Amino acid sequence: MKDTMKAVKIIKPGRLEVVETDTPEPNGENVIVKVLYSGICGTDLGLWSSGAGDGALTPGHEYVGIVEDPGVRDDLKKGDRVTSIPWNPCNECNTCTSGYTNLCPNAMTRGVPGVTANGSFADYFSAIPGLVIKFPDSISDLQAALVEPAAVGCRAAKLAKINSGDKVLVVGAGIIGLFCAAWARINGAGYIAMSEVNDFRGANAVETGVADELFDAKDPDVVGKLIETTKGGFDCVFEASGIEAGINTSLMALKPTGMLLLAGVSHGPVSLEMSLAVVKELEIKSSLGSLPEDINMTIDKIADGSLQVEKFISDILGLNDAQKAFERSASVTGTDVKILIKS
Ligand SMILES: [Zn+2]
Ligand SMILES: [Zn+2]
Repeated sequence: MKDTMKAVKIIKPGRLEVVETDTPEPNGENVIVKVLYSGICGTDLGLWSSGAGDGALTPGHEYVGIVEDPGVRDDLKKGDRVTSIPWNPCNECNTCTSGYTNLCPNAMTRGVPGVTANGSFADYFSAIPGLVIKFPDSISDLQAALVEPAAVGCRAAKLAKINSGDKVLVVGAGIIGLFCAAWARINGAGYIAMSEVNDFRGANAVETGVADELFDAKDPDVVGKLIETTKGGFDCVFEASGIEAGINTSLMALKPTGMLLLAGVSHGPVSLEMSLAVVKELEIKSSLGSLPEDINMTIDKIADGSLQVEKFISDILGLNDAQKAFERSASVTGTDVKILIKS
């Protein structure tokens, strides 16, 4: 291990730079990881566009890497492949002890790697020991890099309580929407429609086999077509866009007593036709992140071949190309789904 390493920093809103910085040193506590790949996610793009961290923050939390020094984790050894839970729950508050560590209100102030503490778009990463998860040999490095976003879909589909043969609509063909669709299929959905404004991303959802049919969200009669296709509406809608129009489409396209699963985060207030939820007795549930059990289930399904994740990797770029990779990922009209950064 060299004394210095390359790390990506958010310099100002919308601008990344690669800097030479001190390599994190083993301190007998943290797990020092040599990063292999990190995925760019919506959280990273939000931090980047807002210029978070006053020039000092290295983003990145969806990573796979190799243990360089196991710190206090005596169950790990040099060379193990690992990732970290992308959150930092206290494990003590009422939310944590109720089993919802993914929602711990204390996580942010404790320091979330890649969000309020340095993350993985770097050669090395100093991981909080309690958050580190070891990967089995049964999945590849690239598959491992996709486990975190795939686990988000696992949790969303579980909370949506999909029944065998259900008609499912996914609004938004970004990576979370794609994984909601993939997990809905694993959980028994009979028909999966995708609604998307970006033609390339929409077509990709059908070509990769996660959705059965694409509906153009720009079509003024998209709701009419969705209702007609399902003869009265969907059993379940995964809303993965967070956009006002997308959520209203979801409310309209559901059948009476249907399930709306909110998996997209809205940036600011939205105006919704909520009377539809009442007159149809809709069930509304939201899902955020994942629990360790979702991550383990995701690893199992990747390993046994029922969840294919590599097909969502659009490109792999080096740390020096991080700015370009972020710009491409943020493009509304772009053709990228998930870009990985190779450290
Ligand atoms: Zn993420
Ligand atoms: Zn907590």
